[in-house]
This record gives sequence, C-alpha cells and structure tokens, in this order.
Amino acid sequence: MSASVALRLPSIDGLLRHPACLPLAERYGREALLASLRQLLDELRSSVLSGQLSAVEISPEVLAGRVGERLVQQQRSQVRRVFNLTGTVLHTNLGRALLPEEAIEAVQMAARYPLNLEFDLASGKRGDRDDLIESLIRELTGAEAVTVVNNNAAAVLLTLNSLGARKEGIISRGELIEIGGAFRIPDIMARAGVRLHEVGTTNRTHARDYEAAISPRSGLIMRVHASNYSIEGFTARVPTAELAELAHRHGLPLLEDLGSGSLLDLTRWGLPAEPTVRQALLDGADIVTFSGDKLLGGPQAGLIVGSKALIAKIKKNPLKRALRVDKLTLAALEAVLGLYRDPDRLAERLPSLRLLTRAQADIFAQASRLQPAMADVLGEVWRVGAVQSLGMIGSGSQPVARLPSAALCLRPQVSRRLRGRHLLNLEAALRALPIPVLGRIDDDALWLDLRQLDDEPAWLAQLPLLQVAQ
Ligand SMILES: *Cc1c(COP(=O)(O)O)cnc(C)c1O
Repeated sequence: MSASVALRLPSIDGLLRHPACLPLAERYGREALLASLRQLLDELRSSVLSGQLSAVEISPEVLAGRVGERLVQQQRSQVRRVFNLTGTVLHTNLGRALLPEEAIEAVQMAARYPLNLEFDLASGKRGDRDDLIESLIRELTGAEAVTVVNNNAAAVLLTLNSLGARKEGIISRGELIEIGGAFRIPDIMARAGVRLHEVGTTNRTHARDYEAAISPRSGLIMRVHASNYSIEGFTARVPTAELAELAHRHGLPLLEDLGSGSLLDLTRWGLPAEPTVRQALLDGADIVTFSGDKLLGGPQAGLIVGSKALIAKIKKNPLKRALRVDKLTLAALEAVLGLYRDPDRLAERLPSLRLLTRAQADIFAQASRLQPAMADVLGEVWRVGAVQSLGMIGSGSQPVARLPSAALCLRPQVSRRLRGRHLLNLEAALRALPIPVLGRIDDDALWLDLRQLDDEPAWLAQLPLLQVAQ
C-alpha cells in the first residue's frame, strides 16, 4: 500500500524543477522550499495512508500552490502585533506595558551598538550593570540600594533564597497567594529553600500571631500585597510599620512583595490608590520587590530595593547571575525611570499611564465614530452599539477596581440557541485579521473596549477583510 502511495506523489527533485515551484525557490530560497515540500509530502503520505485523502488528486500544480501558502505562513513572524480591546490594560498574556518612545530609542541604541553595560567609563574599570540605574531608582524610591533581575517572580525567589535559606519565613495565611502561571508563594518559598511558617487566618492576622511564631529558626518575615483578589468584611492586617517594628525588635528583616507597586501616588491621576515603594520603605520594610512591566509601565523586570547590607547580600548570591537582566531591558528601564523625574508630564509620555487615564468621554466619542463602519461590515445579523463599559488595570493591580470606559458592543440578532456559536465565530474572525483584534465575550455580546485603540487608521483599514463564518 505505501509503495503505491509513494508512486502517486511527484518526486522532490521533479517538483523542485517544476515551473510552478521555480518562483517559490527564487522568492524563499531553495532550502526553505525543500524543507516545506518535504513536510507537505510527508503529511500527504500519512493522510493517504490513514485513508483521509485519495492520492489520485495530487498534481504538481496543486502541490506548488499548497507549499506556497505554507511558505507565506512560515515566513510570517510568530510574534505578532495585536489590538488589545479586551478592556484589560496591563494584560499579562498580551505583553503588559507598552514602552514610551524614549525607551524604544534606548532599546534600539543598545541593540545596535556596543555599550558600557558592565564597564565604568569614569575609571576605565569593570563595572556592575546595576550601577546604570541605581542612582535613578534610589532617587525615585528613597532606597539605599538597588538590584534588578528578570521579573518580580525572580526578585522574590532571589530575595527569599539570599536572606532566608534553611530558615523559616513567617507569612500571614491571608497572603499565601497564587499569581497565575503557577507562581504560588508557598512553592516559591520551598524552591528558595525557605521553610514556610504560616500564621493567622485567611481573613485576620494579628501582631501576636507573628510574635508567637518567632523562634531561633526564624529567618525573615514576609508580606505579600494581595494583588489579584481582595479580602473584605471581617478582616485584620498588621500595618507595615508595626510589622517592621516587630521584625526589627527580633532582629529579622521584613520583605514586602508589592507586586505591581507604584513609584508615585496614582490618586493624583484619579486612579485607585496603590501602595508606593517609597511608603513601604518609609514604613520600615527592609526589602521591597516589584515588577517593571506592571504599573511602572516599563519592560519586564523585577526591582529589588532596600537596605545596603541586604542588597549586597542578595547581589552576592550566585542565583543573581542566572536571573540578571539583559542590556535591552536595562536600556528601556533607564529611559522609563527617567520619565518619572517629571511627574507633571508623565501621563502624556508613559503609554500605560496615558491609556489608564484616558477619559471615558473621549473613548465614548471614539466608539460613536467607529460604530457605523463596524455595523456596515457586520451586516444585519449583528446589532452594533457604542456603549459605556468597564475595564480593568490588569496584571493583578486593583482587582476589584473598574475603569469607566466605552466599547463597541456586538450582539448577534439570532435565537438564543445560536448566539454562542455566532459569538465564537466572530471572535475567531477578528483573531484571523492581519492584526488580530482581541475583545471579550460577556452577557451574550462581544465587547471591543476602545480604551487602547490608538491606531484607528490601521484598525479601520483591515475591517473590510473581516469574514465571519455563518
Ligand atoms: C505580579 C506579581 C508577582 C510576579 O511578578 P512578575 O513581574 O510577573 O514576575 C509577584 N508578586 C505579586 C504580589 C504580584 O502581583
């Protein structure tokens, strides 16, 4: 059976010389064409063998057409730009913060030229990559010392391992969180070699609970900002200042994982209050960790700030080398932090803050402006409304707070039974556009939250390509 199948498929050599394939070799290169042809023929052979396909149909022209489509697909980058119209601004699955132009330029410079990554230009001696951003972060947070790693998960792991290995880490049961992507505080502690000593209860933990847990085995007290959930009602939490005082009385360091954290008080822009790094340090936390690409609005990074002695200890840990940041990240981070020196203009210059503070009236006007084009493309089956909606900050910041926004609300005008399929088909069609459009399905409608639609011309230009399966 397999021999007869093989006979029905043209030979690779014959195909490579076939006039239908020559332009493909010219365009994509002979090696790429050969690799794609082999894959295609292998796949066809197995479908013929499994009886899914009859071998008789396959001509060189058909094969050339198929391999051409495959080459187009394979040449297209897998890392694709999308329109994030989900309503979640700092979306972890969509790359979180967008960088400001200043950071993009810095990344280009760092990518293109050699740079003083670990070289002190003043002395001509070897330098430390943290030195490039240390004074800026100290200025913005009031910290004595600073180090930067791959992300905040790495910052927590490194800090725990450096300060608490083979000892106990004391933490409230209300703060044993999971952040998603399998990042759970108890697991991270275990990996860091710190023995978890949980105290209090889910909703209430008192100073006396911490006090009772302290023993010669204790290595540190940890506090984790409840970033992706909220505990409300009958609750009690020891304020950071009191917890720091308690820790220091027993000679223990207090670590605070702020998650998103913020360098400035966000209420000045009408956003929900988020603890600032400076305040956590003022309250007495010895080490504070936070993300670079959440509310900070920069590249993926984990910032560790705090006392000079503890940061020195953290930097000596061999794990630091494994978790360090690269030059592109450092270049972007320095540029983003530089913008924070001028808070008055920050909301214009930092994309994440600009998007988070966009006025609902402005977004609503945009929804009204785009509604006719969308209605036109979707036709009679869909009712398209320009409506008010509620978005979120995302990345675990302020899980309960909602950002008043506006959206195109796309509702299928079909029987209840068919609605689900219509919505999924539309969702898939939007994802299949050259720049995939991502919205969210809620309440029997597909919502395109426009808070983050900056590039309106590109969005409109591809709308006629939308093809919704029925
Ligand atoms: C998001 C978050 C982390 C992980 O930060 P990444 O930068 O995503 O690695 C850790 N702790 C808290 C409290 C968080 O909110």
